[in-house]
Amino acid sequence: MVAMPGTSPRLALLIVAAGRGTRFGAGLPKQYRSFGGAPLLATTIQTCQRAVPEAEILIVINSDDAGLFERVAAQLAGLALRAVTGGTTRQESVWRGLQALQASAPDLVLIHDGVRPFATPDLFGRVISAARASGAAIPGLALTDTIKQVDAAGCIIGSPDRSLLMRVQTPQAFAFPLIFAAHARLAAAGRFDLTDDAAVMAKAGHSVKVVAGEAGNLKVTVPEDLIVQAHLTDTRIGQGFDVHAFGPGDHVVLGGVTIAHSAGLVGHSDADVLLHALTDALYGALADGDIGQHFPPSDPQWRGQASDLFFKHALARLAARQGRLAHLDATLICETPKIGPHALAIRQNIARLAGISLDRVALKATTSEKLGFTGRSEGLAALAIATIRLPETSDV
Ligand code: MG
Repeated sequence: MVAMPGTSPRLALLIVAAGRGTRFGAGLPKQYRSFGGAPLLATTIQTCQRAVPEAEILIVINSDDAGLFERVAAQLAGLALRAVTGGTTRQESVWRGLQALQASAPDLVLIHDGVRPFATPDLFGRVISAARASGAAIPGLALTDTIKQVDAAGCIIGSPDRSLLMRVQTPQAFAFPLIFAAHARLAAAGRFDLTDDAAVMAKAGHSVKVVAGEAGNLKVTVPEDLIVQAHLTDTRIGQGFDVHAFGPGDHVVLGGVTIAHSAGLVGHSDADVLLHALTDALYGALADGDIGQHFPPSDPQWRGQASDLFFKHALARLAARQGRLAHLDATLICETPKIGPHALAIRQNIARLAGISLDRVALKATTSEKLGFTGRSEGLAALAIATIRLPETSDV
């Protein structure tokens, strides 16, 4: 019905981000609030782009948000993003988006909420294949809570059979000509109050197939901290350990901070034993190899390299899994230099590099009572622990 079997349909992705989000409280509209360091809408767009890289992307924004959207587009400079202004209801916003897509005449359009950043590529795949077969498909989940119908006074007047009910999500996928015609008919009748596009299709007499949705495909309607609580429930802890020998030199680099000393640390990079241990702790929490695997010491390009490169790489691996860094804790073991006077500067620099607050970075130092290689000042050792939070759906 949509495209010949075996050929790829031409896809458009319509992201609806024109809402005012009154449930979210005062201030920035929720789609522009920071989530994991980026505006929520930017995260949603990236999720979609990774899932359906071949799709033409159009975003429907609020006429008040042009400046905010420009900043999102600047952050996603590699993507070809087009935006149109929405209407006063969700239905009217989608209708404007569909009209803007008409010239490119896609086979299928995926309509997705701008505040659902966690839909997986599998989910996109399911709605696309079902819509190719039937013309209209949406994700839905069975209800687990018992449902009651109540009157205006809040008293129960019925207990609907929940096995006949589903809660539905986006992305919703439709044959473009069908959804366009369905919207056009309602628009011509001046009716703009339907809250999703499946309802628009049903109103036009089309059947809509429901495929399995995802519990993790949350619609963000509450502040970020609550979403982190609800979504990033998979806590993981990694440890790291590193040693570098003292050698000729007049300074050491610890946590990216240069400290004058009567010796230097010997190493292939800048020998920042603390950043190396922290980097390995991050890789450990991700079960993602170690620093030697990602940056082989045999490779001459890392010679003299500032170690924040390694640390940032591990942080990027965490970001790619849509995780958050909760806490870093480290211990330096040496007789000299004295760490105490530099501890705050080191913590501040690590917090800056990691993009977390100072209260999430701990640093201690100890001697080893003149015992062993650290006690003889032959080298400096670092221990580190990283605690991260991942979405339940992040398994790779
Ligand atoms: Mg090292």
